[in-house]
Amino acid sequence: GGFQSMGLSFHVLKGITKRGYKQPTPIQRKTIPLALENKDVVAMARTGSGKTACFVLPILEKLVAPVNKPLQGKNLRALILSPTRELALQTLRFVRELGKFTGLSSAAILGGESIEQQFGVMSGSTPDIVVATPGRFLHICIEMSLKLDNIKVVVFDEADRLFELGFGEQLREIVARLPSNRQTLLFSATLPKMLVEFARAGLSEPVLIRL
Ligand code: AMP
Repeated sequence: GGFQSMGLSFHVLKGITKRGYKQPTPIQRKTIPLALENKDVVAMARTGSGKTACFVLPILEKLVAPVNKPLQGKNLRALILSPTRELALQTLRFVRELGKFTGLSSAAILGGESIEQQFGVMSGSTPDIVVATPGRFLHICIEMSLKLDNIKVVVFDEADRLFELGFGEQLREIVARLPSNRQTLLFSATLPKMLVEFARAGLSEPVLIRL
């Protein structure tokens, strides 16, 4: 089965072709169909495995408007949390390249950058997809009393590093603000005890994927 047999929309497939992906990687073959079925997923995957597309493609598919329908009103519907600015910016590039034909909007909310500019990004018509580092995202949420009710998917990328860098408490605070009917996807190279506990509390009957 290739990307064509996964049931992805025309505009999402077009982004995959443009990016030059011919066949899904093993982790993509396992994860994408489950994510498209709305399952919560814990995937043990390293950088280089193609893990980024495992969450970017299902997010695009979930948010993209059907071919003949106009886009819904813009608001934050998918949140990707990354441990570092560099990873977040790289992920944002995936979102924009793979999502080139979807019409979806995206932004990064990162520590160490202008908070005034980020207040602007998150006021009024917010981006459909945000890639963020946890500390700054939580700060913006609190300062702006952001409503996260429309979030359909949240991703914890490199979750072991998120915890190693001390974001555990902020992650729990963010999770507490998310609607309970969301989908949660967690990617990590390792699964330390703390992360297993976090997944137990924050994910709903997750499917564990390891290669
Ligand atoms: P990642 O593990 O997400 O950091 O991806 C590692 C590299 O593999 C990136 O350069 C991706 O663009 C590339 N990649 C991801 N999926 C595929 C695919 N299905 N076919 C070819 N390259 C891919």
